[in-house]
Amino acid sequence: MAGKQITLKKCKFVIKNNNTILKNVDILIEDGRIIDVGKGLGGGEEIKCNKNIVMPGLVNAHVHTESWYLKGFSDTKNFFEKIYTLDSDLLHKIIYVSSKIAVYEMISSGITAIVDSNIFLKDVLMAVEESGIRARIGPRIENEKDMKLIEDVKKWRYENPLISPIINVDSIHLLSSNSLREIANISDKYDIDVHFCVAKTRKETYWIKKNKSLFPVEYLNKLGILDKKAVMVHLGWVTSWELNMLRDKNINIVYCPTSVMKLATGGFFPLKEALKAGLNIGLGTDSVYGNDSFDMFQEMRTCVYLQRNNYWTMDFSKEDVFKMATVNGYNIIHEKGGVIDIGYVADLVLLDADDPNLRPLTKHNILSSIVYTASSSNVSLTIVDGKIVYRRGLSYEKIEEDIASIENVLRNFLS
Ligand SMILES: [Zn+2]
Repeated sequence: MAGKQITLKKCKFVIKNNNTILKNVDILIEDGRIIDVGKGLGGGEEIKCNKNIVMPGLVNAHVHTESWYLKGFSDTKNFFEKIYTLDSDLLHKIIYVSSKIAVYEMISSGITAIVDSNIFLKDVLMAVEESGIRARIGPRIENEKDMKLIEDVKKWRYENPLISPIINVDSIHLLSSNSLREIANISDKYDIDVHFCVAKTRKETYWIKKNKSLFPVEYLNKLGILDKKAVMVHLGWVTSWELNMLRDKNINIVYCPTSVMKLATGGFFPLKEALKAGLNIGLGTDSVYGNDSFDMFQEMRTCVYLQRNNYWTMDFSKEDVFKMATVNGYNIIHEKGGVIDIGYVADLVLLDADDPNLRPLTKHNILSSIVYTASSSNVSLTIVDGKIVYRRGLSYEKIEEDIASIENVLRNFLS
């Protein structure tokens, strides 16, 4: 007997992947997977898509959902120090509600999977689980005292098949080599990926070079970490020989272009060389501190624009960046996703093809329209694992209450 089915009927356009656009086809989904793409399909809940563009879901491969409540406050003096003086129960509540709103913002903007780095794991996890989004989620180790957070990782037994644990390491120069080795051992023992923020700033790169006589990626390699389940995030100050090292070790990379600019970290992630080397590179928005938006459409175009400007060339294509935000992101989370074809996970997004900002719309310019002009406001439906997790116009009321509750706390706190 067939499992739970959805059919997307007569889709106006289907972005199968970064190279192939289909017209007027149906997509049949069963038990969370795409089981057929073609004409004349039917079964289960049928959704009319003759006014929609259907595309693979976007992966935000580096985000801190708990930071939603900090939006717009990154330039406010002492705000970050002060906020942690709030009553602990209230702070946990803010983190939970904040994460809930952030995930809502992401699913309503076509993001179907996230890689999350956080301090308040339990609160964030609860919000993420309730949303139905696919997630890799884990604590952020920033310094030696955070090593105790790893204890949580050992206890994790997720019931939810969409969520798996990871460890996030921020600032490798603030951790001892023993602690870095311990993290790598836990990654091995529990088969967990570790996402390292590496060579993000000149200060960090300079410190490691001065104290370890190596560049950051070389240092991690010396510690044996590149032979483990490691992912490198940022790499704004990476060298060409370190990129080769990452290629040889088959390490995935996440690039966060807006964060580089907002935090003025300088450096320059050499995307052209990284792509040429065949590395798998995903895209992330980073935290609200480094980016006041979770919109991955915006992140795609920022990536292309920044790289074009850095290299003085228009070589970077919409196809490259669309692949980074979809299939490459799924590679990072070890899922067969990011392509609309038989056997892939049914993580899909419907855009409204009638929206004026996407016009004129033809098979020939549709990918450009998605990368250069689309935004979260064009998303009308989001499906994760074959289930509808967002439908435009619905479910906003509850979130509006949550938003008002956070604004209330912030008002009291700042007055
Ligand atoms: Zn980050």
